[in-house]
Amino acid sequence: MVAMVLEKAGQLLRRVEVPVPKPGMKEVLIQVGACAVCRTDLHIVDGELTKPKLPLVLGHEIAGVVVGTGAEVERFKVGERVGVPWLGWACGVCAYCRSGRENLCNRAQFTGYDRDGGYAEYTVADEGFCFPLPDSYSDTEAAPLLCAGLIGFRSLRKTGAARRVGIYGFGAAAHIITQVARFQGRQIYAFTRPNDAAAQEFARSLGAVWAGGSDQAPPERLDAAIIFALVGTLVPLALAAVDKGGVVVCGGIHMSDIPTFRYELLWEERVICSVANLTREDAREFFAIAPQVPVKTQVERFPLTEANEAITRLRTGKISGAAVLVPK
Ligand SMILES: [Zn+2]
Ligand SMILES: [Zn+2]
Repeated sequence: MVAMVLEKAGQLLRRVEVPVPKPGMKEVLIQVGACAVCRTDLHIVDGELTKPKLPLVLGHEIAGVVVGTGAEVERFKVGERVGVPWLGWACGVCAYCRSGRENLCNRAQFTGYDRDGGYAEYTVADEGFCFPLPDSYSDTEAAPLLCAGLIGFRSLRKTGAARRVGIYGFGAAAHIITQVARFQGRQIYAFTRPNDAAAQEFARSLGAVWAGGSDQAPPERLDAAIIFALVGTLVPLALAAVDKGGVVVCGGIHMSDIPTFRYELLWEERVICSVANLTREDAREFFAIAPQVPVKTQVERFPLTEANEAITRLRTGKISGAAVLVPK
């Protein structure tokens, strides 16, 4: 099969021919229909996430069909469609797993990081960490739901019952979660790079009540803000934009340093928190709500072998919505 492989951080992915992987006892073999490109993949390629298995097949937003099963697989049959997210395995016995926080599992394995992922024609995944996909989505449409959607949803949940929600960085996660937030009766305020009129228009087209540059103040105080951009200087800006008791959620896996700021910005019980990974419970809830909204994903397709091009376009902010790799 063809796979796009990272051999060393800082290098381009290399197109290689490798044997189709064999599923382990509890694993399914999946023919990949589509795999979305996540910003996390950029951090892995750039060496900002420092412990990937190497060589590595990236990709943790995988939609495809089960074409083989290990001897102990019970949940899925050949021919069924599944999605594979970033959380590829958790131990189930550590204190985090036992308290409903498997996203923080001490021994967690991540797809396309600790395990080979979906930048390939086939992949294997532990059946316990695969999800049935709603029929209303094609593989290409479903792929971005598996990280942008799930991490976005977990970030939105961290805002509690906030009605006015700011989103800093209007990419793949924001475009999905804006639709969910509207469905829940919330109002979205979109912050983009200053003067990025196209991104602001994109946000408004998805129902944001206001869109402007991250250097602008929103027209009213927000109840919460989610930061998907990688820019630490946004944290004090977001704190200044939220009202008393407001939450600022950092949704990224990586961020530049947060500058010092006046305590006054945090006072009155404002909270800063981060979101790490996802739990299977997040996925169950999100895949129940997504078809009801219904969430529509805007995708830009690339052939699998053009993964490097897709990564470059994502890096330079040239993708509106999500980039998705399609093997042939
Ligand atoms: Zn665990
Ligand atoms: Zn991701």
